Amino acid sequence: MWALVTGASSGIGSEFTEQLARDGYDIILVARDEARLNERAEYLSNSFNVSCEVLVADLSDRSQIRTIEERLARGGVEFLVNNAGFGINKRFANSDIERESENLEVLVSAVMRLTHAALPFMREVRKGYIINVSSVAGWIAGGTYSASKSWVTVFSEYLSVDCATDGISVTALAPGFTHTEFHQRGKMNMSGLPKWLWLESTDVVAHAIKAVRSGTALSIPGRQYRLLYLLMRHLPRGLVRRAGIGVRQRQR
Ligand code: NAP
Repeated sequence: MWALVTGASSGIGSEFTEQLARDGYDIILVARDEARLNERAEYLSNSFNVSCEVLVADLSDRSQIRTIEERLARGGVEFLVNNAGFGINKRFANSDIERESENLEVLVSAVMRLTHAALPFMREVRKGYIINVSSVAGWIAGGTYSASKSWVTVFSEYLSVDCATDGISVTALAPGFTHTEFHQRGKMNMSGLPKWLWLESTDVVAHAIKAVRSGTALSIPGRQYRLLYLLMRHLPRGLVRRAGIGVRQRQR
């Protein structure tokens, strides 16, 4: 059976391909960097004796999202991980609106469209797993990225209930700061971040896979972040809003 992972060339997505291949899934790897995807596919086939398909696609481009939708519509994909993403380290008023639009396309439209394309096969076989990678940023008001991740969490929570009767488990993974290429690519200054806030991709991915297999709607890896989640839900919203702006400003 196949698992399809977007953003498979790096970080959390790359770790998903490894843990799912170890579980015996054949893997469809999606991202833009063809060379990295091919290298990853070769490593997975050699290490875990699984089949791999590489699909090169820029998920900020609707016509390229469509090629992945078409692959999902052909069937056979039991496990979908919507993981691809990037951040924009600018105040909204100063940021390039085309870049904002691309961000929305990757973080929201691609997640919605690929999920929609994956569901018919999963419903037919009455089995399926979907992990949508959200973020703790969705709990705060830290810009358009927070807004998109908030959408991903609510969308996944809705589906976790709505699809349960079809035998499909849906989980929103909300990681905190994780060692990947994310911050470097987004030119974010992370030097002031205390060590205890950092997570590793291996733990983040293992937590999410365990959660989706047990039908848990929200996966929050790390005790420190589960505690923060509780705090966020009980603090006055005005404080949470100001904390969101604070986190954004520290990264510039
Ligand atoms: P990463 O190491 O930078 O990986 C991002 C992945 O997304 C890469 O494989 C990249 O591949 C792919 N990607 C980016 N833009 C794309 C596009 N337009 N089309 C297709 N693929 C694209 O970062 P990461 O931390 O693993 O990020 C994975 C997810 O975790 C993201 O959704 C991110 O928002 C979320 N997250 C990260 C953290 C963190 O602290 N790291 C915390 C919370 C949530 P190519 O460049 O090859 O296209």
